[in-house]
Amino acid sequence: MPSTRREFLAATAAAAALAQASPADPGPWFDKPMRWAQLTLVEDDPGKYDFTFWLDYFRRTHSDAACLSAGGCVAFYPTKIPLHYKTPWMKDTDPFGDLVAGCRKQNMVVMARTDPHAVHQDVYDAHPDWIAVEADGKKRRHWASPDLWVTCALGPYNFDFMTQVTREIVEMYKVDAVFSNRWAGSGMCYCEHCRENFHKASGMDLPRTTNPHDPARRAYTAWHQQRLFDLWHLWDDEIRKINPNACYVPNSGGGALSDLDMKAIGERAPMMVADRQARSGVAAPWANGKNGKEYRSTMGGKAICGMFSVGVEEAYRWKDSVQSGPEIKLWAIDGIANGLRPWFIKFSGTLHDKRWLQPVEDVFNWAYRNERYLRNERPLARVAIVYSQQTAHFYGAERARQKVEDHTLGYYQALIEARIPFEMVHDQLLDAAHVDQYKVLILPNIAALSDQQCRQLREYVDRGGSIVATHETSLYDQSGVQRKDFGLADLFGTSYDGAIDPRMQNSYLRLQGPHPLLAGLEDAPRIINGVSRVHTRGTDANAPLTLIPSYPDLPMEEVYPRVAKTDIPEVYLQERGKGRVVYFPWDIDRTFWEILSPDHGKLLRNAVDWAGNEPHPATVTGPGVLDVAVWRQKDSMTVHMVNLTNSMMMKGPIREFIPLPPQKVVVRVPSRPKSVKLLVSSAQPAVQYAPGTVTLTIPSILIHEVVALDL
Ligand SMILES: [Zn+2]
Repeated sequence: MPSTRREFLAATAAAAALAQASPADPGPWFDKPMRWAQLTLVEDDPGKYDFTFWLDYFRRTHSDAACLSAGGCVAFYPTKIPLHYKTPWMKDTDPFGDLVAGCRKQNMVVMARTDPHAVHQDVYDAHPDWIAVEADGKKRRHWASPDLWVTCALGPYNFDFMTQVTREIVEMYKVDAVFSNRWAGSGMCYCEHCRENFHKASGMDLPRTTNPHDPARRAYTAWHQQRLFDLWHLWDDEIRKINPNACYVPNSGGGALSDLDMKAIGERAPMMVADRQARSGVAAPWANGKNGKEYRSTMGGKAICGMFSVGVEEAYRWKDSVQSGPEIKLWAIDGIANGLRPWFIKFSGTLHDKRWLQPVEDVFNWAYRNERYLRNERPLARVAIVYSQQTAHFYGAERARQKVEDHTLGYYQALIEARIPFEMVHDQLLDAAHVDQYKVLILPNIAALSDQQCRQLREYVDRGGSIVATHETSLYDQSGVQRKDFGLADLFGTSYDGAIDPRMQNSYLRLQGPHPLLAGLEDAPRIINGVSRVHTRGTDANAPLTLIPSYPDLPMEEVYPRVAKTDIPEVYLQERGKGRVVYFPWDIDRTFWEILSPDHGKLLRNAVDWAGNEPHPATVTGPGVLDVAVWRQKDSMTVHMVNLTNSMMMKGPIREFIPLPPQKVVVRVPSRPKSVKLLVSSAQPAVQYAPGTVTLTIPSILIHEVVALDL
């Protein structure tokens, strides 16, 4: 009870403000929607596309939220803002307003989409300074639509004009959020505003090099991020002034290769959209789930939506195309298994090919029927892969994909093959609160680590955690400057010996067991080495892996080992209290991604098993490739198994699902569950209980299966 009149008045005012926000008092809606529909209209849709069909499709898919095209490059509502280009096809109508009203009638959360990256000639003529400028001083024409111009993201076009647009949309339609696509610019801009603002902030001219050690480049990296966070803050503030329960949602973020700091994103955003629309080129079907893990590492339990498209996502951008049904389903379902709330995106309201409708409807309906088992509270994985944007920016730079990301992809694939449930951890969140839920942290060539990060990792091991590290991990500081020795030399049990072989040809490893690290390799006297090797100090003729140095690979008469055996260890194993540390000085994870040698896969798996020294939360045994994830909900636990076994596993699109033969599942449980069921096949499995475990056999898995245990 309020004790004074002033408190009473304050409480009354707060209640009134709440009531005014909405009569139904929804409060923040961010955690509510579980299934998102995005319809991105094209200019000539108004008057042509089938409005009723779309609302009906939203209903059929049980979509509880929509993202709809509003403004920016093209306005789909009667805007009053000068230079805000209205689609001429809408005449006197309000296509956006009609869709908003239709969705509201279906109780959907509504997000307005803007796209500020391109403008028409009249904007160029009125405000030439709003246009992005190339390094050679030329204004940037749009690369795909040559009638349009590319805007500068960091100047008045976004900060003034798009702020007005954002405000107008929220004022007119009271939307729940504004989502912007391509809001963060299209490459480096040398316009007058960027030049002046950067100079004001740093005293330097804009960098003309991508070298991360160039002082101007370093300053630019920080300034560019700050400018974008300022813009995010500005739009978010303006939106909340009009609708306190609304927010701004930028299309941003991702893993090590993404621009904006994921830790700052996680602190700021009440929900996020992980935009990984489909596979292109060589890409594993688990890449959507990986994106979910990357966002979760800094978003924690906040809602993360997994945006997937239904078209073929390749460089040729067939935006009106439709992928195979199985490809659409597998991509979406692996996202769901990894905690993403499905969000389909369709470009163009006019349908040229309807074959995607049923696959998306099938996935969404399954998710709707099983919503209570998809409202996850936390993952139960005990293993996590660390990723590091600072390593990508300052050590990898232009070669970050090969030097940084390929190591992560390799270890990721190895854990998938090993069916080990795992999460990802951001390198700026290595404190106890973020890592103590894990027994093993994997550092796949996390080269750039500060002294403080190294201290946090040391403390993690002192508290009983274990580490598996590879290659140049901790050999550089947070700025990418090389150290004299590993920052984690004490944990690794070795020191840097002053050299790195960048490319070894025809080198091998001698195996000496028995050791748990060599499980499954008992009959192998030697296996292929990796490609790059860090020289380390120390000799041990009895190490499980020792170096067999390169020898000629041509002419064939010369191909024989000059040295059969050395005492140069290629793995270091330490026990520190309850913690264990495995260090591979070579690029085992990156080589695994390139070559996919099963021998390397076994070593990567065994390293985690030895370091963890405990059973996994779920063990699934049987043939095939499965992505396994274990979750806790309020009153239940789930084990997701996504069937990735496919001749098109590494390069889509998949043609058909291949059913898996029986799989034995052992789940570690806190108590004997009240019931155990399968959420896909609905079969009643025979379940055996033992103290702490539940064992069952799943007869077959087509796309996926979920074991749900009611606790
Ligand atoms: Zn600019």
